[in-house]
Amino acid sequence: MTKSMSLIWDLQSIEKQMRTLKAEKQALSSDNIRCLWQQIAEIKKLSAENQLQLIKLQNKCQTQEEDLAKLQEHGRQLGEMLYGGSVTQAKELEKIQSQYNLFQLEVQRVEESLLTDMEKCESLQAEIKNQQDHIHTLNEQHGKLQQELARHVTKMEAEYQILNDSYEKLKQNIPAAYYNEYVKISRVKSMAVAKLEKGICSGCHVSIPTSHIVKDADKILYCENCGRMLLIE
Ligand SMILES: [Zn+2]
Repeated sequence: MTKSMSLIWDLQSIEKQMRTLKAEKQALSSDNIRCLWQQIAEIKKLSAENQLQLIKLQNKCQTQEEDLAKLQEHGRQLGEMLYGGSVTQAKELEKIQSQYNLFQLEVQRVEESLLTDMEKCESLQAEIKNQQDHIHTLNEQHGKLQQELARHVTKMEAEYQILNDSYEKLKQNIPAAYYNEYVKISRVKSMAVAKLEKGICSGCHVSIPTSHIVKDADKILYCENCGRMLLIE
């Protein structure tokens, strides 16, 4: 009986290691990678917004450049009228002069606005470049992390397989009655086997009166308090 119980004790310990390994593997595949992936997605979104804004701004600049060219051409024509000598009447010249002045002001205004927008374009382009660099770095990190994880998972799976093999081998040496009892109790208790050490059950830490302990070679002993199978060494 002690031998079978001792084997079950070992079996339980292997099972515990398997559970721990499984939990570790599950915990591994999540947080870091997901967090990094979210970061990449957020930057990509920001970068896409910036690119859209840049295109709009570039279109605006182009329109302003065209407007400016038209204004400059019109201004040139007014200038010719003003200084070319074709108009001689003072009143007419005065009218053209004020038109010419207004045009000059408008040209100045469009030029300034164009300059501001071009500067904005430049800073947006720089920002987009930074974001692309950042995405590149994060992607590299993500790749490395995935590789690392894959290696780690493979190692864990190999460890798990070894444990599983030991479990199966051990199970073959345990009498069915013991194993079935173990499985039955395992369904309701995390550790189905406890050790009786100095008269105390290691499962529930309650003292078991020695009079209750019958060292019968054929019987499975249970803790009266928690119902676990007892290993007495
Ligand atoms: Zn107990």
